[in-house]
Amino acid sequence: MNRRLEKLRQKMAEVGLDGLLVSSPVEDTFKNVGANRRYLSGFTGSVGFLLLTPEAAFVAVDFRYYEQAQREAPDFALFPASGPLPSWFASLVGEAGLAGKKLGFQAGDITVATYQTLTKAVKDMPASDRPKLLAAPPLVEQLRAVKEAEEVAAIQRAVDLGDEAFEAVAQRIEPGWTEAQAAWEIEKYIREHGGDGVSFETIVAAGPWAAMPHAYPRPEKRIEEGEPIIIDMGVRIDGYCSDLSRTIVLGRPGEEFNKFYDIVLTAQLAAEALIRKEMTGEEAHLLAHNVIAEAGYGENFGHGLGHGVGLQIHETPRLARTSKDVLADGMVFTIEPGIYVSGWGGVRIEDMVVLEDGRPRVLTRAGKLSVG
Ligand code: ZN
Repeated sequence: MNRRLEKLRQKMAEVGLDGLLVSSPVEDTFKNVGANRRYLSGFTGSVGFLLLTPEAAFVAVDFRYYEQAQREAPDFALFPASGPLPSWFASLVGEAGLAGKKLGFQAGDITVATYQTLTKAVKDMPASDRPKLLAAPPLVEQLRAVKEAEEVAAIQRAVDLGDEAFEAVAQRIEPGWTEAQAAWEIEKYIREHGGDGVSFETIVAAGPWAAMPHAYPRPEKRIEEGEPIIIDMGVRIDGYCSDLSRTIVLGRPGEEFNKFYDIVLTAQLAAEALIRKEMTGEEAHLLAHNVIAEAGYGENFGHGLGHGVGLQIHETPRLARTSKDVLADGMVFTIEPGIYVSGWGGVRIEDMVVLEDGRPRVLTRAGKLSVG
């Protein structure tokens, strides 16, 4: 019995769907955008559709994936789907018994081009065979937001290796290293110690470059003493991601560094202490934002406080201004306030937490600086 399928079927019934198509928006070459498909079925191939009904579950893949889909997705019936979608879609829908029924697709899963192909394939079917195609709410994303115990365990393994990789490299890094070199040392450590890879391109940003929250590491930039260095990195293990940011400095930190670090850390610890289940993403965000705003740097914290992490590095829930996501036990997300000052640099400190018994339990153990 596949618990995830059972839960999804319940949600489908709640919104009145007879069938649901699940795919990935683009080819999942790096196993990072096919999360809905993988979550439900276990299938990790780069392309393919799942079709779910109250009674049936199909995995529709092309010749390259016949064997892999059967191995990885034993709860699903293999539907051979070689060739362009219009050549097999009608018979899949027929086999699933969806003539005249409501067939949802996950709006975030398909491109406009795929949508057009789908609607045309439906239109070309005899009128009595056609399903009613409609955009479903993000049902699978909602399920994925609340983690099962095994998922939290996989995430903890990724977090642990990330902590270890960060500390190993942070201890060795010295003036004259380039940002790209530091990023590569982190990645190498991850690969050599059991990680499947990084969960996103490692950020190492020194000096004014660190004022850009998502800066890329420069091959020519040599790190100097005294400048803020933001390291933002993640590990992937068994499909699950981790996300970690620390800001460090080589040599003696300047007064500004200490001031900003202190504010950001205070904001982060406040959020970690005060976030509770049933808060909205916006309420959680404001816990940290208010601390930074009261210190006079609200404008310098322009991104959200955090995001869910799981099979994807950014997923539900969002902790940010205007986010109506409601926090619930089992959710895993980041808490990562920052201050960015153009021309100077930035400070960001990021932990991952799981919400348990209504409050966050911090998963990250990488050291932070003590200020003051
Ligand atoms: Zn993050």
